[in-house]
Amino acid sequence: MCVNPIKKVCHWSPLTALGIIKIITLMTIHCSRQWSPPQESFFGAVNFILFFCLSGSTLFHFISAIYEGPGYLPLKWMPEKLTDTQYLQYCAVCEGYKAPRSHHCRKCGRCVMKMDHHCPWINNCVGHYNHCHFTAFLASAVCGCCISTFTLVSWVMSTVLATRPLSYPPPSGFILILVMFTIGLSVGIIIVVGALLYRQLSAIFGNKTEIEDWILEKAHYRRFGTRDKFIYPYSKGWRFNMNQVFTWNCIPVGDGIHWPVIEGCDQYTLTREQLAQKINKRKRAKTYRVIENVSGSYYPLRHGWGVLCHSPCIDRTIKLNIGDIVIVTRWGKYWLFGEKKREEENEKQIRIRGWFPRRCAIEIIENSSALNESD
Ligand SMILES: [Zn+2]
Ligand SMILES: [Zn+2]
Repeated sequence: MCVNPIKKVCHWSPLTALGIIKIITLMTIHCSRQWSPPQESFFGAVNFILFFCLSGSTLFHFISAIYEGPGYLPLKWMPEKLTDTQYLQYCAVCEGYKAPRSHHCRKCGRCVMKMDHHCPWINNCVGHYNHCHFTAFLASAVCGCCISTFTLVSWVMSTVLATRPLSYPPPSGFILILVMFTIGLSVGIIIVVGALLYRQLSAIFGNKTEIEDWILEKAHYRRFGTRDKFIYPYSKGWRFNMNQVFTWNCIPVGDGIHWPVIEGCDQYTLTREQLAQKINKRKRAKTYRVIENVSGSYYPLRHGWGVLCHSPCIDRTIKLNIGDIVIVTRWGKYWLFGEKKREEENEKQIRIRGWFPRRCAIEIIENSSALNESD
């Protein structure tokens, strides 16, 4: 179960999602009862029942994805064998080691088992324990919206283009606008949620989360041009991968800490690679001094068109003052990504990391080892 399910639901984004589910459900039921009443035709009954089931399933899996939560690693977690800690990253916030496939979520404030991403709509992470519910929620929402769009468009056609008198009272202008608005919502959901569903399904069939996809890309990049090949340890064929997540009661296989791996790999194949990538990153890190104040805005107006047009809008930005020292680990043409150096080294302190305009800082030292231990 998640840390505090009630608190997770009582937030503007899950409440908005619930509102959208409710509007689409009410409008579709209203229109289907007028356009093709379920008690009058077999088609109407099937359409109505199918939509009703999908709407219920959307709501059920949505609430379940929040309630079950992704599964958090216990605070101060340690592997059974103490010597195994050498293969694992340490989380300073949770004061424990990160189990294989776990990552720390800044929004949840905990290390999450098999973390995929933090979803603002469920105000929770998608991970080991709610992956099935989350995917079922997406699938139900997309299928439900297909029926909804079909029903609503048919209702509009039969109402607006009616050649015979209507069998139901003509709708008011307000209802017509509401139906058009709901059609827009439904089509939007089919496109946006459909794309997300596609990504989730490919993640499940490949047994590779979005974060692991990124780690794998870096692993291949690191070995580019060499004979060394990195083998991803968790994918044991699509059927096996699927059965790990999709079960009849939506409870996944496994404890979220130990994972089945392919031959030639072990529990720490991926975590060793992550550690190596981190050392690599630290070697490449460069120190910069801030020479112009940075507001932390995604679209700062003072630094020219290039900065404005290449905003890192899906990632985070940081606020900096003249004289601040930043350890930079990623370089863009107009933006740099780095971590602000703290005055006093304090493990518990929240680390300030993000993008800032490139022209606001100058490089001061070659190759710094000042980057903090944990990432
Ligand atoms: Zn953590
Ligand atoms: Zn999270």
